[in-house]
Amino acid sequence: MCECQEVKSFFACPDDFTDLFSFDYQASYSFPEYFKKEIPTDEVIPNFDYSITCYQCSVCQQWWYFECSPTESSSPIFGIKLDTKDHVLSDNEIKAVKQFLAVLSHDGFSAEKCIHHGCTNLALKKVKMCVNHFI
Ligand SMILES: [Zn+2]
Ligand SMILES: [Zn+2]
Repeated sequence: MCECQEVKSFFACPDDFTDLFSFDYQASYSFPEYFKKEIPTDEVIPNFDYSITCYQCSVCQQWWYFECSPTESSSPIFGIKLDTKDHVLSDNEIKAVKQFLAVLSHDGFSAEKCIHHGCTNLALKKVKMCVNHFI
């Protein structure tokens, strides 16, 4: 069984994805559509590997962009659905998804400016950086 078709077009696993979520786990629990405790599928081709990002679910045939943990038993910490095998995401598309998730996981912005010199963007809540300097 897989849950690929119940998941939105992207997700992250907050327990593992520390770049995005080290500062605030609490807010990410408010958005369970995007922050998953369990990955949608573990039946994929090829096997999960830190150095590979393109996978296909062998149950429902969904193509996925997965970023996997750099651990021995690697598993996805971040995923975006792909339309086809040849669908290549640009760096900006991936960054855009991560920035969206970072805004959600911090429960939005504070009224303070980003601490980076000359940056006029508002900082994310609980960190002193804007989303551009955070991701
Ligand atoms: Zn699937
Ligand atoms: Zn900034």
